[in-house]
Amino acid sequence: MNQLSPSTIQSIANSLHLNAQVGVAQARVFTELEPILHARPTPFVRADIQQRINPFLVLPDAKSIIALAFGYLCNQPDYIPAPSDDTLPKFRRGGNYRNICKDRLKLLWSKIESQITCDPEPNPNLAPGAATSFKAKFLVDSGRLHERHIAKIAGLGWIGMNNLLYNPRFGFECYLGLIVTNLDIAPTSPIASGCTHCRECLNRCPTHALGEYSLDYTKCISYLAQTDERYSHLSCDKCVWCKWAIKN
Ligand code: SF4
Ligand code: SF4
Repeated sequence: MNQLSPSTIQSIANSLHLNAQVGVAQARVFTELEPILHARPTPFVRADIQQRINPFLVLPDAKSIIALAFGYLCNQPDYIPAPSDDTLPKFRRGGNYRNICKDRLKLLWSKIESQITCDPEPNPNLAPGAATSFKAKFLVDSGRLHERHIAKIAGLGWIGMNNLLYNPRFGFECYLGLIVTNLDIAPTSPIASGCTHCRECLNRCPTHALGEYSLDYTKCISYLAQTDERYSHLSCDKCVWCKWAIKN
């Protein structure tokens, strides 16, 4: 088969109507994250930093990481419009986004795999001598690999002062998913940051939980609503916003 390229994968994703942008990062240990993760422990995710930076702990013979940014699920049939009491943030209104996006990753992979498997030619995406078995692991908001960082490296966007990934197509309103695979795919390039450091996303935070590229989880309404029964009636996504996005 022809070399499986990021643009081929994007075309497959488009043909499946996944409402997603595709990027690819080379599998490597993301050592640059180590000091940051030591300095800023994060709830919800693996405490073992190696689990967050090392894709070979996910798939020992990993070669590439296909990263996807999915638009919010506003077109889902059971999408819930903004409730009057504002208790359901937009990212949760389309249903269980983790399951839905994981299903989309699996659908994409099955299509990729069927195209590769049907081709009698030696596969240029596998290292010479490698067993011709195609492997993939699927991660969506998994708390394992640092999805945002890998998405940034794969060119899916830049990271704002609010700690979120800004995707040119979906803005901050996107979910991220990864396919860790032993296929060797040419990586895509990172894009330049569009953040002007205006701090306006930080200023919108009602509890001052946001610092510059940091978050005090004990003050974050969204985090508390998801983790503490006493605050489960609350909701907040005021920082999912960008002055830059409005201008463009
Ligand atoms: S609102 Fe300003 S500081 Fe925040 S991400 Fe956008 S440009 Fe950057
Ligand atoms: S979700 Fe709300 S409380 Fe949490 S950081 Fe964003 S603006 Fe602040």
